[in-house]
Amino acid sequence: MSKVFDLFIIGGGINGAGIARDAAGRGLSVCLADKGEVGGATSSWSTKLIHGGLRYLENYEFKLVRESLKEREIVYKIAKHISKPIPFIIPHTDKIRPAWLIKFGLLLYDNLGGKTTIPKSKTLDLNKKFPSILKEKYKTGFQYYDIQIDDKKLTKLNAQDAKRNKAKILEYNKVKKAEIINNEWVISLQNRKKIKSKVLINASGPWINETLHKNIKIKSKNKIRLVKGSHIITKKLYKEDVAFTFQNTDKRIIFVIPYKKKFSLIGTTEVEVKSPENSVISKQETQYLIRSVNNYLNKQISKKDIVDTYSGIRPLIEDFKEASKVTRDYVFDLQIVKKLPLLNIYGGKLTTYRKLSEKVLLDLKKFLPKTKKGPWTDKKKLF
Ligand SMILES: Cc1cc2nc3c(=O)[nH]c(=O)nc-3n(C[C@H](O)[C@H](O)[C@H](O)COP(=O)(O)OP(=O)(O)OC[C@H]3O[C@@H](n4cnc5c(N)ncnc54)[C@H](O)[C@@H]3O)c2cc1C
Repeated sequence: MSKVFDLFIIGGGINGAGIARDAAGRGLSVCLADKGEVGGATSSWSTKLIHGGLRYLENYEFKLVRESLKEREIVYKIAKHISKPIPFIIPHTDKIRPAWLIKFGLLLYDNLGGKTTIPKSKTLDLNKKFPSILKEKYKTGFQYYDIQIDDKKLTKLNAQDAKRNKAKILEYNKVKKAEIINNEWVISLQNRKKIKSKVLINASGPWINETLHKNIKIKSKNKIRLVKGSHIITKKLYKEDVAFTFQNTDKRIIFVIPYKKKFSLIGTTEVEVKSPENSVISKQETQYLIRSVNNYLNKQISKKDIVDTYSGIRPLIEDFKEASKVTRDYVFDLQIVKKLPLLNIYGGKLTTYRKLSEKVLLDLKKFLPKTKKGPWTDKKKLF
């Protein structure tokens, strides 16, 4: 008789890999399949920050920011070798947000997550601190810290640890079909193999509804909006190991972050798209990012300075707000199909993957009687 896994996960992004690690470490038998490389999609196209998300405070997302700040501490602790704290400077401009509002936001940001090893925020004299980088008109700035991380590596390390705990990780193997036969999920893969499982998790990121409709043949309860975020990469714009958070007149913010020793990473834009496939930055987005940098820095850039670009797509739960205001929190949709559980995971952040994985196992507890232990991933280092 062929093996019946406890858990089958569609998608080896950070969420799928995180769930696989957590579940395998609790003694469950896990199989994960990705149509590409583990960590090869959205989870390697992010801004590469483990952050609370200062800007989400403006949308009153206190719960998400609090959880993210707590997770920032934990993920940094378990993945120090692929991450580092980095100071972010917000140059102040009265026309966009008043100083008191930013200071209040930073006070919350410093404290919402509880005890932290990451330095607290402070006000800076920019003309003294960064006279060569920023235009002279930006006199006051606010400094706060977040964590920069290798997003793809984080995903791969989770998958690797899952493997160490006997999970089966299949790459370049698309899930073509998932159906229930004889009270088991039967998952048909691209290589024609069939895998059986008791529980099915759909963690296919921006492909979530496509997978649900086309491959599992079930209607989704959640309407999603696909929002593309793009980055440009230039040669290092300045030598200091500091990042900037620029506010734009449309109230959006843009990061300029030191990247891989020799480069600067600049992003992101937000544009709605129809499909999760082959996303690339548009001319307008490129211009928007260039303009944002040129508004703030002494060094002026143009298209010629761009050495690379990348774009990723977020699936945001439709709530009819403008893209920058739609929640970045995750939503679980647990469906019972002919008595078997199917869990669809919508949205989320790189930052919250570990907590998300813990919550998945909590929500699925009654379907996974072989679970040998409780939460454990907050203490065990990734390697
Ligand atoms: C531009 C941008 C910047 C971001 N920056 C940050 C940031 O700085 N910090 C932060 O915390 N979060 C950030 N995020 C959010 C974060 O990147 C995502 O929440 C996270 O990467 C989503 O991971 P995932 O596992 O859900 O999706 P993905 O990484 O996309 O994984 C889904 C996987 O499913 C696979 N798949 C799809 N269909 C199938 C199928 N039928 N069979 C098999 N496999 C399939 C895909 O190949 C893919 O690998 C950003 C997002 C974007 C778009």
